[in-house]
Amino acid sequence: MSFNIRSNILSSSLEYYLTHYYEALTELQQLSNPMVGYFTNKIPVELLDAMKLHPVRIFAFKHPQAQQGAYERYIQTFACSWLRGILDNGLVNGYKDLEGIIFSTGTCDSLQNVSDVWQKVFAAQLTYNLTFPIKSNKAAGTYLENEFKQIVSFAQKHLKGSSDFKLTESIRKYNLKRKILQKVANLVSKGQLLYVTFAQLLYFSDLLPVDKFTQIFKDFPPTNNDDSISVTNQDEIPRLLVSGGMWDNWELFDIPEWNGLVADDLSFGHRNFNYTLAETDSMKSYVESQLKRTSEPTAYDEKNQRLESLGEQIKEHDVNGVVLLTMKFCDPDAFELVPIRKYLESHDISYLNLETSPDISNVGQLRTRLAAFSELLL
Ligand code: SF4
Repeated sequence: MSFNIRSNILSSSLEYYLTHYYEALTELQQLSNPMVGYFTNKIPVELLDAMKLHPVRIFAFKHPQAQQGAYERYIQTFACSWLRGILDNGLVNGYKDLEGIIFSTGTCDSLQNVSDVWQKVFAAQLTYNLTFPIKSNKAAGTYLENEFKQIVSFAQKHLKGSSDFKLTESIRKYNLKRKILQKVANLVSKGQLLYVTFAQLLYFSDLLPVDKFTQIFKDFPPTNNDDSISVTNQDEIPRLLVSGGMWDNWELFDIPEWNGLVADDLSFGHRNFNYTLAETDSMKSYVESQLKRTSEPTAYDEKNQRLESLGEQIKEHDVNGVVLLTMKFCDPDAFELVPIRKYLESHDISYLNLETSPDISNVGQLRTRLAAFSELLL
């Protein structure tokens, strides 16, 4: 495979890179700066880029040689389905192409346990535990600033991070990446692009070095290539929004029952590009901007940001129904269902709860339930 991709990249090419994710990692390891893996969306990717490191998101994409259930040696069978998949895949080659891994502790019990397991199982790989505060007050700001400074010194000392630290430049690049994704999200909302293609682009954007992504996609979608966009006629289908946590399998959306999907409220979807950070070299200002981001299911939503943001999205995209997507055995997803359901009911918004795992083994059932939900909304 080769990353000499063109600006008129087609959906089939995005699919190709994602289905060859592990090969892509190996190739990127030769081409890019040292790679640092991460799992959750509250990771200071700009800080890593500023040290000439390449932050790469770790997906639960099935490794061709993964042995299902290999994880059982290390974590409980009731750990979330997503982390089980991550361990099954990692046990094939130990994520050998990554220089190190950043865990976000203080998120959920499963991730916290795996952080300890990881250090034992993949002992050659350096790990760092970053704790992103649950609140966003002044004390949280001071705490996070200290955490960020420590991650910088750890990366410079152990992960080949450069001491030539250019934060403003990195923030600018990531702001541009988020702007591009917002532009593409608007096409989905207008029914000019299928959500599945957008999901592929989103995931691809967390794999490629940010400079490369912005360089290739700054003019996306190209105007001179008709088959680069999948257009759907959405006049007669209800407009759906999908809400949830760390979902990362684009294949879930590759079924016609999602053709009315016009927006998402997922960790690695809207919540990963719905913000612009202050372009600054000051760590304090960077921290302040980071703390303003919408909260995650794993955090305490002290200011009801999460519900407000969902409500704004529903209005903005003129949504008819919301699909609440939960990952099997994910406690944070299950906990937040309660306030979200209450919110939707109090606003008279129809919803459907779908539970699945990264391997979407119950796809037949999901299709039937989605089709029935859409019929009800018509
Ligand atoms: S938030 Fe849920 S899906 Fe993510 S690691 Fe924790 S339990 Fe698993």
